[in-house]
Amino acid sequence: MTTQDARKRAEELHRESFVLDAHYDLLPLVLDRRQKGERNVIEKEYIPAFRAAHVDAVVSSLFVSERFLPEMGLRRALDMIAALYEEMAESPGLFSLCRNTAEIAEANAGGEVALLLSFEGLDPIGNDLSLLRVFHELGVRGIGLVWSRRNYVADGCFFDPVKEGRKGGLTAFGVQVLDEAKRLGMYIDVSHLNDEGVEDVLALYDGPVIASHSNCRALAPVMRNLTDDQIARLAGRGGVMGMNACSVFVADPDQHTVTERDLADHVDHIRSLVGDGHTGFGFDFCDEMRDFSAPGPHREYDCVKGYGASVGFTAELLQRGYGEDAVRGILGGSFLGFLKKTIG
Ligand SMILES: [Zn+2]
Repeated sequence: MTTQDARKRAEELHRESFVLDAHYDLLPLVLDRRQKGERNVIEKEYIPAFRAAHVDAVVSSLFVSERFLPEMGLRRALDMIAALYEEMAESPGLFSLCRNTAEIAEANAGGEVALLLSFEGLDPIGNDLSLLRVFHELGVRGIGLVWSRRNYVADGCFFDPVKEGRKGGLTAFGVQVLDEAKRLGMYIDVSHLNDEGVEDVLALYDGPVIASHSNCRALAPVMRNLTDDQIARLAGRGGVMGMNACSVFVADPDQHTVTERDLADHVDHIRSLVGDGHTGFGFDFCDEMRDFSAPGPHREYDCVKGYGASVGFTAELLQRGYGEDAVRGILGGSFLGFLKKTIG
């Protein structure tokens, strides 16, 4: 297949298939802009980007920046959800909050982008399990147990080794969270957990789990990525991994310019370990997140340059010989199957 043919077919597949991004810090960005007085932010800034790649569904994180914790964690998460409700009212017919796969299908049938909500760290609920039910009522369906720090649930993994005391896995509260999540119909996401925590989730939770935005540690040896053993066990119970475009999780950016080809190597690696059906998009586009990154020289992180460029990533997979069914799974079919099994 020539590059041009692959590109054309990739565009067609994006148009025809269900396309989902399992991790995007959409609402943290939207809230910051709304607090500066902007309105219709999703309509103006993000809908055109989603449409450029025919994206049908996006999972927005409820990421809370360190500077708001602990006191403002709950308030920030509620403000993000409030921002989404306000944006939906301001821009009717363009996107809607979805709580299950039937609502995703309904939104898409009406030409709307389906937005789902996931914690990226349960910091907003602190140690109050009853708040999980409140967030479920508000429409949150995903639970990334931790970000890269410790909370009441577990220890997060850092991006690089740091000087620290002994690590822990899940706390007793964390174990209660697993049970409550299952009861409510919320899904568990292990991205950002440390190895001890992943081990505990696999031992103490028997349903399928995802890593919404983590790659392979065998190819990029950072703690945020999963080991081959973890990948095999996650896949063994029907889990899916979202491929993270942040270059430091893809290859060594000091060695060469990281591109979508490097990211496709992670899909190849996972397929060689566990076969098709266990990868998807979890791009975690972060070049916009200036105020969340350390001060210093400007550096670009995304090896896939936004949603429009995701078509190029799909074309790369087609050129590597992936069949169209496998590609449809990667575009969103595999994550959709996971959602059906967990949130209904
Ligand atoms: Zn993250």
